[in-house]
Amino acid sequence: MLTAIVILVLASLPGLKIIAEALRKETAYQFVVDGKVWFAVSKKVSLEEILDEYKKQYLKNIDKHAMVKKVDFLQKIEIVEVKIKPDYIDELKVAKEKISAVEEEAVIIEVKKGDNLWNLAKAHDLTVSELEILNPDADPHKIFPGDKLVVKPVNPALDVIVEFENTVMESIPFKNEYKKVNNLFKNQQKILKKGVEGEKEVTYYITLHNGYQKSLAITNENILKEPVNALVQIGTRTTVFRGGRINYGVVHGKRISSLYGNRIHPITGKRRFHEGLDIAANHGNGVHAYTDGRVVEAGWNGGYGNCILVDHGNGLRTRYGHLSKISVRVGQRVKTGERIGAVGSTGTSTGPHLHFEVIRWGRTQNPLNYL
Ligand SMILES: [Zn+2]
Repeated sequence: MLTAIVILVLASLPGLKIIAEALRKETAYQFVVDGKVWFAVSKKVSLEEILDEYKKQYLKNIDKHAMVKKVDFLQKIEIVEVKIKPDYIDELKVAKEKISAVEEEAVIIEVKKGDNLWNLAKAHDLTVSELEILNPDADPHKIFPGDKLVVKPVNPALDVIVEFENTVMESIPFKNEYKKVNNLFKNQQKILKKGVEGEKEVTYYITLHNGYQKSLAITNENILKEPVNALVQIGTRTTVFRGGRINYGVVHGKRISSLYGNRIHPITGKRRFHEGLDIAANHGNGVHAYTDGRVVEAGWNGGYGNCILVDHGNGLRTRYGHLSKISVRVGQRVKTGERIGAVGSTGTSTGPHLHFEVIRWGRTQNPLNYL
C-alpha cells in the first residue's frame, strides 16, 4: 500500500513541478502613477535611477549657480513592493520607454520675413510673454527668417516640476534731471554731469513645468550701487518735443523697457548683450533724428524690423529699430528733431517700442549717455 502511494507521488512529480512553476511568484516593484500601475520591474534601485535620470533632463538648461529647491513629479508617484508572476515583470528598457513617453509632440514653427512676436503669438493663440517663455534662448533682436520657435511645448506622460532660486546682477537705469536755461538754442542740450547706472542683486524664485517657466517671482532685491542721475541743461525756447511724460529726445516714451548692456537670463544664467536702449512708447508716436545727419540705411533689417541708420559725422551714428513707418530715404539729410519715422513693433519685438542705438566709430555706446 505504502509503496503504491510512493510510486503514485513520484509519478505525478513532473505535473506538480508545472503547478509549482505556475504559482511561483517573485518580488517586484510596481510603478504606480496616480493610483494606476504602469509596469513592474525586479530591481527598485534601477527604477529609481531611471526616474532620477528622467527628472535631471529638466535641470540641464538651468543656470549652474541656481539653487534647486525641488524636483518632483506633478503626478502622485509610488513604488510598491509586490509578489507577482515573473511574466508580469517588465524589462528596464520597457520601463524607460513608458517613463519617457510623450502624449503630444512639440510644435515648432519657422520664422518668416515680416514676422514679429505679436503676430506669431496671436496666430498660435498665445500671449507674447508665453511665447518668450517657450523660447528662453531667443534674443528678440536677433531673430531672423529661418529661425525656429516653439509655439507648443512637448507634453510628456510624466510631468516634472522644478523649483529653484537664482540671484543675478542687474543694472539700475539713471534718470536725466533737466535744468531749463535760456542761453541755449531750442533743442540744444548740454550734459553738465554724466549719469551712472546703478547695480542690484535680484533674487528670482522660478517654477518650471516640464522645463518651461510656469511662474517667476522676485523674492529679494539688494541694491549694491545707487544710480547717479545725469544733469542736463536744455534750452527753454520752443522745442520739437511737447507734451509726453518723459522725453527721451528721440521719442515720447513711457518707460525704459530694456537697458543697454549685459542682461543675465534668470533661468539659463546666459549673458546677452543688448546693443541699444529700448524705450516703450505708443504705436505711431513720432521718432525723431538725434541730431543733424544723413540717412545711410532705411528699410528692413532682420530682427530690428523697419530700421533707420543715420550718420551724424565724426564717427557718430544712431539706429532706430522696430518702426511702424519709415519717412526718410537713404541719402536724405535730416535735422535735429526731425520726424524720420514712427514707433512700431516690426521685426522681433515684444510690443511697441523704439530700439535706439548709438554707435561711435563702429562701437555701440550706452545711449543713456547721449540722450
Ligand atoms: Zn532693443
